[in-house]
Amino acid sequence: MAELRVFPLCCVAQSYAWGKVGLESEVAKLLASGDPLVHIEPERPYAELWMGAHPKGDAVIRDNRIPQQTLGQWIADNPGCLGAKVKDTFDGQLPFLFKVLSVNTALSIQAHPNKELAAKLHAQFPEHYPDTNHKPEMAIALTPFEGLCGFRPVEEIVSFLQTVPELRALIGDVAAEQLERSVSDDPRGVSAALRVCFTRMMKSEKKFFVDQLNMLVKRISQEAAEGKDTSGSNGDLLLRLHSQYPGDIGCFTIYFLNLVRLEPGEAMFLGANEPHAYLHGDCIECMACSDNTVRAGLTPKFIDVLTLCEMLNYTPAPSSSKIFPATQSQLDPSVYLYDPPVPDFTIMRIEIPSSIKLYLVSAVDSASILLVIQGMAVGTSTAAASEMTLRRGSVLFISANESISLHLSSPDGMLLFRACCLL
Ligand SMILES: [Zn+2]
Repeated sequence: MAELRVFPLCCVAQSYAWGKVGLESEVAKLLASGDPLVHIEPERPYAELWMGAHPKGDAVIRDNRIPQQTLGQWIADNPGCLGAKVKDTFDGQLPFLFKVLSVNTALSIQAHPNKELAAKLHAQFPEHYPDTNHKPEMAIALTPFEGLCGFRPVEEIVSFLQTVPELRALIGDVAAEQLERSVSDDPRGVSAALRVCFTRMMKSEKKFFVDQLNMLVKRISQEAAEGKDTSGSNGDLLLRLHSQYPGDIGCFTIYFLNLVRLEPGEAMFLGANEPHAYLHGDCIECMACSDNTVRAGLTPKFIDVLTLCEMLNYTPAPSSSKIFPATQSQLDPSVYLYDPPVPDFTIMRIEIPSSIKLYLVSAVDSASILLVIQGMAVGTSTAAASEMTLRRGSVLFISANESISLHLSSPDGMLLFRACCLL
């Protein structure tokens, strides 16, 4: 029998409180569909599905002919599966963690350090910053998806400073006027003024910002009750976030950060120092292997306002510029590539049309993880023990330079996502 280098995985669900609950969650739906024996608890949040070898959620190998129980153990014993370049570049580790997220309530306002800052933070505060790696992330919407990402164009922030007096009170007239005047400045002047305003807001005294937030919520609620348009104060979003995180300074960040809405298949890339928060919806996510997150609001977890305000990228840009383009592969028109400007990962969206009955998942010089979102097929590979039934929710590990033939059995084609590392 040939060496087993392609096999199915049983992946780990994480129950963070912000996740969608029971079968409302895409994570739970994929688990239930991928394995009919899985029991979905109706009250439990199914926030994230981890498809990888992270020690806090190492995938279990679904093939009892393989002696190692988990993907992490198997890769440690078979590092050649990563592909020669990936193995050498990333010290024999799978460089990415692939996920599905089902977001019900907002995640914290956060940013991730670059490698230099990660090393510094880890040396100073290892309890909060557990490793020395950067953590670029990419999210691809599975359902309509909302998040905050990057600083708004300065004209939008200035407009909020003029229509939301509770926000202006936190920042103070001097800093607000400096930002207003900076509109005609060079980009460096704008960034400097923006940094001052955002930092003043984030560092305001707790009692003061809670009072201002309560006044703002009361005012918007009254205006909404009277049937007035509250969009000038971003009213709907403010009330929604305040109901999730009452009294949290993060509620005010909606006046600084872009609201980005992704349709299924659209992506956003979160590079180092980019402020962001996921708000609602289901997505595919891929990230470099790291736990380094600097948080500053919309969370009960440890927050580090000073570090966050210091590190951020204060470059204003419109919401539309935050959508990361996918490119159709020249070699295979079924494949759309999301290739971020970091070496750690690339994601492929594979849309097999209903006219194709036999499809080759091609070999790449990297280990990869394949997730079935839609459709059914029987998969065969010279590196697999036997035929594999692939259905919605199935997850496969594919070693470098191995391919799989899919014999489609569903009439509507298939939708797959594949994470790999193309160096
Ligand atoms: Zn993040």
